[in-house]
Formats: sequence, structure tokens, C-alpha cells
Amino acid sequence: MVFSCRQCGTCCMYLGDYIVIEHQIGPFEFACESVSTGTPFIARVDEDKREIFLDHSFPSAHPSACRFLRPEGDRIRCSIHETSPCQCKFYRCVVMRIFDSKKNLLGTVTGTLSLHSDDPILRSVWETIERELSSKGADREVQLQQYLEARGYLVE
Ligand code: SF4
Ligand code: SF4
Repeated sequence: MVFSCRQCGTCCMYLGDYIVIEHQIGPFEFACESVSTGTPFIARVDEDKREIFLDHSFPSAHPSACRFLRPEGDRIRCSIHETSPCQCKFYRCVVMRIFDSKKNLLGTVTGTLSLHSDDPILRSVWETIERELSSKGADREVQLQQYLEARGYLVE
């Protein structure tokens, strides 16, 4: 279950109110605040992303997106990856995909171990598993996978 970010930008498209630029302190440096944690941080545009950062057409067209998000080819990238807040660096949108025995996708699990599924049976199974689980962190992720597999689900 190694997570690999596809740099699709989806998770940053509505974070404009959460990653706030207070003021500019250099050509490519900004005093910022991560609003959800109340943490100030200095954002420095990555050297290899300065050219794309200077094009403001994307943030102008997407006012709800994080101000540091920029398209590059078929990716939408964070232009301050090196100095971005740790919750951005460690964010994982999907850590598990859950299938039935015929490989039909029934749901996904986010990095915060929340289930996204419209399948009522899986949702009910998930609630039961959550009540039974004792471990936290990485162990909890492994345990969740084992519980799901024991109930006949395929997990990737
Ligand atoms: S964490 Fe997920 S949603 Fe966010 S950019 Fe990467 S692949 Fe896309
Ligand atoms: S700082 Fe980077 S990773 Fe964090 S919300 Fe903005 S674009 Fe996304």
C-alpha cells in the first residue's frame, strides 16, 4: 500500500482559504499561515517551479485553489513543495482501494483512514471493524486490510 501522488492537484483545489499568503517578503518568498493548524510558515517557491509560478492564469481562473498550485504539462503541481506545511507533504488521498471478489471497486480509504463508499454493506462492515480495532497509525492500516480481507474483500 505504498502511496504515490499522481500530482493531479485535486486535493489542493479548494485550499485557498487554508493556505493563506500574509505578505510577500522576497521575489519568491512569502510569509504564510496554515489556517487549519494556525501555523505560520515561510513559503519559498521551488527553484525548478519559478517559471510556472510566475504565470498567474491558473490561480486567476480557480479562485478557490491554493495560491501555490500551478499546471505543468498534464500535472497540477505544488510550486512550494520543499517548504510546504507538513500536513501537505504527508497528505495521502487514497491509501486503500476496496473491491468485491469480482474486482468491482466498492470504496476507497483516505490517508486519515476514512472510508468513501456508496455501498451500504461495506459501510456497515467498516463500522463494525472500526469498533473492533485496537491499534493506531500504520498498524491500524494493516489491521484494517486484514479485517477486510478476512471478510472476503480484495484490498489494494
Ligand atoms: S494527494 Fe491525491 S488528490 Fe492530491 S495531488 Fe496527489 S494524487 Fe492528487
Ligand atoms: S501548499 Fe502545495 S500541497 Fe499545500 S495546498 Fe498548497 S499547493 Fe497543495
